[in-house]
Amino acid sequence: MNDSDRDHGQDRYDLLVVGSANADLVVGVERRPAAGETVLGSDLAVHPGGKGGNQAVAAARLGARTALLARVGDDAHGRLLLESQRAAGVETAGVLVGGAPTGVALITVDPSGDNSIVVSPGANARLSPEDIRAAGALFGAARVVSVQLEIPLETVAEVAGAMSPGSRLVLNPSPPAPLPGHVLGACDPLVVNEHEARYMLGESAGSTPREWARALLALGPRSVVVTLGAAGALVADGRTGDVVPVPSPKAEAVDTTGAGDAFTAALAWRLGLGEELTMAAAFAVRVGAAAVTRRGAQESFPTADEVPAAAE
Ligand code: ADP
Repeated sequence: MNDSDRDHGQDRYDLLVVGSANADLVVGVERRPAAGETVLGSDLAVHPGGKGGNQAVAAARLGARTALLARVGDDAHGRLLLESQRAAGVETAGVLVGGAPTGVALITVDPSGDNSIVVSPGANARLSPEDIRAAGALFGAARVVSVQLEIPLETVAEVAGAMSPGSRLVLNPSPPAPLPGHVLGACDPLVVNEHEARYMLGESAGSTPREWARALLALGPRSVVVTLGAAGALVADGRTGDVVPVPSPKAEAVDTTGAGDAFTAALAWRLGLGEELTMAAAFAVRVGAAAVTRRGAQESFPTADEVPAAAE
């Protein structure tokens, strides 16, 4: 096969990420202002964020051939986000520009580390089902598609319907919201943390992660991965019914922001390379463990060389 052949069909990208891109605007404050009050804060820090942008950068930094389908505004934040995606090696031809200001998260952090966040979804809320239909070629070019819920639910539903035969959908329901049956049925896997698992199961949530995994499988996804912070993850495969724990290596956690995004991106990439789900999760917990040892979200994501070795 020559290079131009390799540029066609599902071999072109290991991973297509469909999701949000935000500018995170962070100011440190002594205390948060009450209604009607003004307080002075630290210098502004601007960080690229959004779950879609985070996942695309995490995968590309590991070496995955990654494309992002997202929407940003025709403004300085949008240009910053495009630039940081490109700098990480992400293909940004699928990033649409305009329609609303770039999504931003306005974050204040107090000395104890507690934060208050206002999110303005902006252009993320304008990523439409029509945008997904118009990007059909990207779907045909990727082995795995990863999507989260910081874009409209009807757009997520369109993504589930746009999957090309032989490709695989990885969905992280964050922030959690009710999902239609056909979307759940397309997930392989559904990736949830503890909070998302409890939301999705509601009153029927059992008391152990193993019970959550089984109950989530009963909602229809082909497989489920429950991430458990320092404890790693649980993998449940609907084809076999097996529920397998995947422990995380020990890590000196300084900031867990973005750990779930790094985990999911790594998992999706390795699934696209043909790895079996438990093996892919065993790699992903190592990537998540590396990400928590550094501050920030995208800044904390490891290169392949920085991922801790597998335990013997
Ligand atoms: P989220 O960031 O979505 O809340 P988790 O907290 O479950 O998700 O973290 C995702 C993954 O990151 C975990 O499965 C694990 O691999 C890694 N991780 C998170 N916290 C730690 C920690 N304290 N020590 C080691 N690994 C961690």
